[in-house]
Amino acid sequence: MTPTSHDPVDVLVVGGGIGGLSTAFALAREGLRVRVLEQAGEFGEVGAGLQIAPNCTRILHDYGLLDEVKSLGVLPGSMVMRDAVDGTELTRLDLADLERVYGFPYMVIHRSDLHGVFLRACRRAGVDLITDAKVSGYENTPSGARVRLADGRTDEGRIVIAADGLRSVARRLLVDDEPVSSSYVAYRAAIPIQEAGGNVDLSEVSVHVGPRCHFVRYGLRGGEMLNQVAVFQSPKALAGEQDWGTPDELDDAFAATCQEVRAGIPLMWRDRWWRMFDRDPVMTWVDGNIALLGDAAHPPLQYMAQGAIMAIEDGWVLARHVAARRAEDGSIDWQGALAAYEAVRPEHCRRVLDTARAWGELWHLDGVARLQRNALLRARDTYDYSFIDWIYGPTALTPEEEPPMFTPVPLDSVDVSGLVDDAAGHPLRA
Ligand SMILES: Cc1cc2nc3c(=O)[nH]c(=O)nc-3n(C[C@H](O)[C@H](O)[C@H](O)COP(=O)(O)OP(=O)(O)OC[C@H]3O[C@@H](n4cnc5c(N)ncnc54)[C@H](O)[C@@H]3O)c2cc1C
Repeated sequence: MTPTSHDPVDVLVVGGGIGGLSTAFALAREGLRVRVLEQAGEFGEVGAGLQIAPNCTRILHDYGLLDEVKSLGVLPGSMVMRDAVDGTELTRLDLADLERVYGFPYMVIHRSDLHGVFLRACRRAGVDLITDAKVSGYENTPSGARVRLADGRTDEGRIVIAADGLRSVARRLLVDDEPVSSSYVAYRAAIPIQEAGGNVDLSEVSVHVGPRCHFVRYGLRGGEMLNQVAVFQSPKALAGEQDWGTPDELDDAFAATCQEVRAGIPLMWRDRWWRMFDRDPVMTWVDGNIALLGDAAHPPLQYMAQGAIMAIEDGWVLARHVAARRAEDGSIDWQGALAAYEAVRPEHCRRVLDTARAWGELWHLDGVARLQRNALLRARDTYDYSFIDWIYGPTALTPEEEPPMFTPVPLDSVDVSGLVDDAAGHPLRA
């Protein structure tokens, strides 16, 4: 077997997505020798926009990358949630006030732009970036960990970070599980703003929530582009059909939504779509000198818009623990660093994964429950952050720093009897 390189490294990162690259940069900036192995022929990201909340922009600031990210993205003035059926406003976040409260902005950016920021930062920091390197196996060795590539090559590091995404090979070392299908599918579009017609307000991140569907819209690249995401439950998936999430289902899913949403549907890309999977949370991410990170450890449903952010937080937390455990002679207590990482990140990510599932259910309600949700959201004060404090505040480095969760309000506590005209829950008003 031939190695991918003859230079020994401290850290071998498998996967050059946002999680892998951001972690490689975080560790290289601590003076470590880092190599990234990416299966694709080049580093890149497929897809459209990403929302990045203050718990991410705080870390970008710490990395010295926030100004570059700001120059590429958009800082919207508000995030507004509306009912997808009647178009009425349910609740909003004032994002200028949010920045005042949490100290860092809520932004939107094209995911290839954020990925590019980390790729350039890795190059500047001297990370060894290898493409066409598909890892097919992992093993611990007495002095570190070794990976086997599909083409027969091998590589070794003092530790191996597996940031190989939803279908992680490394995860099999720790748990025998499979991705969980939500039966929901996402259509995306990132298009020049001129193609959207004149009627789009890019000062907002707009989310329309409706029965078994939702629709997200915001601007990208300084307002030159429009990003849209249309998500719906596939009847064909529920029926167990293989060919699910097709464009005919997209049109049907949004047929009963308000005019504003329906106007956006013809703009969606129709040649590709993303079936939505997550995995059940797991609390063990480390096997000897091999650790999971990003979607490999905690792929979420996207409803909290925290998947890429959690991956970036993972790398930041790990690098902080590594830096704290370096002796004067440069040696690192790796087991201590990995244990500290595993002590704090799985519980935080478990909370996000569970909340994302619950949040998705809340968004997609129908009938009486939809009216109860709407009443609950309308009653929320714009400047009440008690539901998001646990997530947008500083990323915890220890379990003690992890903030308490919010207290959920039961839907049944909301009386909407005056708004319903029959037992099926048909609303009195549209
Ligand atoms: C519709 C949608 C909207 C989203 N919106 C948001 C949002 O607004 N905000 C947010 O924070 N998150 C969002 N997310 C989630 C976010 O995209 C992911 O959580 C994030 O990209 C995960 O990054 P990662 O680097 O861990 O994994 P990935 O992006 O999956 O990267 C894994 C990398 O590993 C490589 N790889 C895989 N296997 C191997 C192998 N065997 N050998 C070598 N390389 C390998 C892959 O080629 C890839 O480059 C959204 C997701 C979806 C689907």
